[in-house]
Amino acid sequence: MGQHNDRMYALQQEILQASLDQLAAEQGLAAALRALYDQQVDIGFIQDDLSQVSYFRYRAPGSNNQHFFIVQFNPRRAERFKGAGRTALPRGAQVQGVADTGCYLCTDNIRWQHRGVQGYYQFRVNGHGYNALCNPFPFIRTHLTMAAGEHLPQSFHVSGSAEETDARIGRIVEDLYRIVEQLPTFVGFYNGAGAGASIEKHLHFHFFEIPDGHGSFPIQTAARLATHTLFGHADSGQPAQVVQIPDYPLTAYRVRGQRADAVRAVVSLAADWDRRAGEAASANIVALWENGAVSLYFVPRNRFYTRSPGLAGMVAGLETLGEFIFSTPDEQRAINEQRVTYDYLWRILEAVRPSEDGEQG
Ligand SMILES: [Zn+2]
Repeated sequence: MGQHNDRMYALQQEILQASLDQLAAEQGLAAALRALYDQQVDIGFIQDDLSQVSYFRYRAPGSNNQHFFIVQFNPRRAERFKGAGRTALPRGAQVQGVADTGCYLCTDNIRWQHRGVQGYYQFRVNGHGYNALCNPFPFIRTHLTMAAGEHLPQSFHVSGSAEETDARIGRIVEDLYRIVEQLPTFVGFYNGAGAGASIEKHLHFHFFEIPDGHGSFPIQTAARLATHTLFGHADSGQPAQVVQIPDYPLTAYRVRGQRADAVRAVVSLAADWDRRAGEAASANIVALWENGAVSLYFVPRNRFYTRSPGLAGMVAGLETLGEFIFSTPDEQRAINEQRVTYDYLWRILEAVRPSEDGEQG
């Protein structure tokens, strides 16, 4: 029966790919991704309708009150800790030519892990193949994982080789930029090893469409307030404008400019961080559109400091933007009892800020 199921799945995947290719050609990548998400809800792979999510906004006290953090409370998201798929091959089944049968992001494993209901969309960017996959417990609509076509590690740090490290950083930043270039209403994340990456053995990005009415992320507001005071007006710098964001609990940079200039500036920030932090070097890199062009945010991280007191999940890319996902009963109590405040959220981020030499601060 395994072979029968394999053929059925291959056919189903072929039909899905062809219809999404056509949509992408006519209406762009975003339309194909939205259709993939809807198909995955319809077939029952996505197990959350997101109707239970509520948002809270916490403003900074005193004269700093243009600053804020966001909390989304998403009770179904707690179930993601259980995982959704099979982790062991069914008895008697074989998978051929797969780098790692335990990898959720290798497409050859997807049929058997998810009992044939998980589909995906293959596309190419910058000469590299990517597979867009839905998350069984999304934190927002159109939340997708973009997995590299090859089984490559998530970490950019290559022990003992600055050259290979820099090549990996370059690929990650340029691919992320080029994907988000095609998705003006989305935000894209690279979460490095220990910096919120759920799967460290296979290179991937997270993407989601920013909902209407969401407004700026807290880090964007902090960057905008800073560029007003530092430069009078934003976006004046060429070739790439690099701003270290003040009044923020993490060391963070915003980079804007032409693609090649912006990519080069982020690669140089990451390479510099890698030389200082060595084996501990990691980062969150976030890309999204602001004022008609792509901005990149670079947040250096120590890969051995993943979690903070006060947050059940990992501090990942979304948290570094100033938006926190709470999902457990303890976290709900903290919200209801008004223990969650701007300072409480500040301390969660501050706890994962590495010191300048890469040690934990
Ligand atoms: Zn893999």
